Amino acid sequence: MKMAQLTPAGTIHPFPRSGLQVFVESQSGQRVLRCYQCGKCTAGCPSAYAMDLGPRRVMRAIQLGLKDEVLASSTIWLCLQCQTCSARCPAEIGIAEVMESLRLLAAAERSRPAERDVALFHRLFRDLIRRWGRIYELGLGALYNLRGRHPFANLGLLPHLLSRGKLPLLPQRTKGASQVRAIFARVRAAEREAPPPEAKEGTDASRQ
Ligand code: SF4
Ligand code: SF4
Repeated sequence: MKMAQLTPAGTIHPFPRSGLQVFVESQSGQRVLRCYQCGKCTAGCPSAYAMDLGPRRVMRAIQLGLKDEVLASSTIWLCLQCQTCSARCPAEIGIAEVMESLRLLAAAERSRPAERDVALFHRLFRDLIRRWGRIYELGLGALYNLRGRHPFANLGLLPHLLSRGKLPLLPQRTKGASQVRAIFARVRAAEREAPPPEAKEGTDASRQ
């Protein structure tokens, strides 16, 4: 049985921190252990109705180190980053940042996303920003349709958008594109310094 730990700073932790929790806290800058399960995040989340685990349950699962359950959940992909949960949290936890760190972990681990199209869109959006320093909407739409294997989705909107000049035909690189690439390179280096948790950890307690 795991015993309570007294840290050098004098804070008592009921259990040693899981590898998952250490990773999330280092990537997001948030203290996951401060969550005391009040549920205000889930109550205010506009996407909670579609999530398999609400934000509160995700926070608990991280505390318990349930990496596989967290990475397999739809929640991390359905989070809109609207920050409503973060604004409502009485423990002042940036839950949206926690969700983003879980997406990073899912990408690093190449885990099978519960919301395949959302994960694909997320990856393509990020890659285009890295390349051009800004989004290239026409390229994003084309790649999303082709790689998502729904080549004709929303195609009827294209003539309308083109005729109104809403979609540039060619990508436009921003002046700061090289700085954007440098930011991505720094993030890559930071990720290498904080590798994802290795161990398969935890119990089934978060499903209660
Ligand atoms: S940031 Fe994500 S988890 Fe938080 S309320 Fe918005 S959609 Fe829900
Ligand atoms: S609002 Fe904050 S303290 Fe309450 S359950 Fe959500 S993350 Fe935990």
